[in-house]
Amino acid sequence: MSDTNREADAGLAPYAAHAAQSRGRLRPEPAPNFRSEYQRDRDRIIHSTAFRRLVYKTQVFVNHEGDLYRTRVTHSLEVAQIGRTIARVLRLNETLTEAICLAHDLGHTPFGHAGQDALNECMREYGGFEHNLQSLRVVDELEDHYAAFPGLNLTFECREGILKHCSQANARQLGELGERFLRREQPGLEAQLANLADEVAYNNHDVDDGVRAGLISVEQLLEAQLFAEQHRQVTAQYPGLTDRQTVHEVVRRMISYVVSDVITTSRAALESTRPAHIDEVRRAGQPLIGFSTEAKGRQAELKSFLREHVYRHYKVQRMTTKARRVVRELFTAFFTDVRLMPPEHCAGALKAATATGDAGKARAVADYIAGMTDRYAILEHERLFNPAERT
Ligand code: MG
Repeated sequence: MSDTNREADAGLAPYAAHAAQSRGRLRPEPAPNFRSEYQRDRDRIIHSTAFRRLVYKTQVFVNHEGDLYRTRVTHSLEVAQIGRTIARVLRLNETLTEAICLAHDLGHTPFGHAGQDALNECMREYGGFEHNLQSLRVVDELEDHYAAFPGLNLTFECREGILKHCSQANARQLGELGERFLRREQPGLEAQLANLADEVAYNNHDVDDGVRAGLISVEQLLEAQLFAEQHRQVTAQYPGLTDRQTVHEVVRRMISYVVSDVITTSRAALESTRPAHIDEVRRAGQPLIGFSTEAKGRQAELKSFLREHVYRHYKVQRMTTKARRVVRELFTAFFTDVRLMPPEHCAGALKAATATGDAGKARAVADYIAGMTDRYAILEHERLFNPAERT
């Protein structure tokens, strides 16, 4: 292993992921000259096509509804920010944490969860569709950038972090990466942290976006204890703020509260368990990065508030119903006649159909649809179903 890896590992805790001790890549490569292995992972993710597409994919609000809502790329940046802050304090590998956070949503379909649910239904007879597994498929196979290998050929630790959950059936197909699901082991701490940072990021930005969209009000949000507590402090310290300023100030304090809680709780768990190596973290029996019971309860309450008032809001429901229909109709059209897809996707689907029949063809169609941005999916749907639209 190169000196660059050892230099990058200086100052890390013994239980962190050390670049010099990485389990390596699926296809071995010489060590990078000026970067650590995990820097190379992060850089490949940033330069990938799938990462650029996240600009036009949404979480809750569909892209054309407004310019100021979070997209998957701004969400991923916020996840990375939260993850990096905590990683640095706990002396975990900040770069690996960042890489996992930036890659965690690469496999998402257009239109957020509505798109994923629809595609999963379409794929029911062919192994289903799961965005998390798709993220791994993107970095292992679908990115087409490098002469020497398919995908991004990332390190084991980064791939381990991307694959958050996995069914036992899928785990059996995944070799070394699937073993932890069969043995019910944990991933490294950087992976545990990225998972948690994701939750912190969306709970908070969906509050901000929900207010901005006019779906929820500050008064309603006071039902959630986490919001109400910070709101009380903000209004006492700064009376007379506008609603916009109040929401911003409360959201930043909610993030701070949760981040401090994760740091304190995880530090205590690490001090009592004292793992001497990342493999001991994996065998620890339970995650060592987590919230306190109190913060967990408040987060859960906020999450159910958002479910009820934002995700199930009739305006969001209308949009998700449309999105589901678009995905379903695209799938049916392409699966029935693969020649309706652009030539490279058509060729891929025909090849897959010859090798593995309908399952292979369905997977190729799902890969094409999953890679679409919201606006591309809408445009493809128009081109296929609107006779007045030019092809
Ligand atoms: Mg996410």
